[in-house]
Amino acid sequence: MVAEVGVLALQGDFARHQEVLGALGCQVQPIRYPDQLANLSALVIPGGESATISKQLDSSGLREAVVEFARERPVMGTCAGLILMCRDPGDKRVQSLGLLDVTVTRNSWGRQVHSFSTALELHINGRADAFPAVFIRAPRVQEVGPGVEVLARIDGEPVLVRQGRHVGVTFHPELTGDHRIHELFLGAIT
Ligand code: GLN
Repeated sequence: MVAEVGVLALQGDFARHQEVLGALGCQVQPIRYPDQLANLSALVIPGGESATISKQLDSSGLREAVVEFARERPVMGTCAGLILMCRDPGDKRVQSLGLLDVTVTRNSWGRQVHSFSTALELHINGRADAFPAVFIRAPRVQEVGPGVEVLARIDGEPVLVRQGRHVGVTFHPELTGDHRIHELFLGAIT
């Protein structure tokens, strides 16, 4: 069966996620209104500007609908998307959804606040594999709750986390042509 997967398309780089999910054989829907969530199997919240997306979640009526959706179905947030999924974004301009038990600090990679790319080690299924990662004004994960698995770190700091069916990524897996993180996420569809 072809999975119908939504990408929140309020602001940011939703188009690249749509391309990746399409390449993986999903039927992809850009999501702008609450009633579009009904038939989806999973939802991606893309990178962009988290304070802007936070406001748009309210003006579109999607905030409650996404929280409700996440009770049963998988959500992946990348960069600003992770900021929106976390428990505490440490910034009053962002009201997060509390889907992942982590706290973050926005725009916080030390001197590398703007952007950088690196190869990181991805820990999935007991294996460590190299993965190319592009960071763009990335958030830093601070506290990680007990139910959260850390699947990749840089200098000891979590950059890829999973809690149950949900995935949070500080970098941009939609930009490198390596689709393993999207595949990992889609694996949570039941
Ligand atoms: N700096 C952005 C924010 O805090 C996130 C950057 C991104 O998504 N590439 O919202």
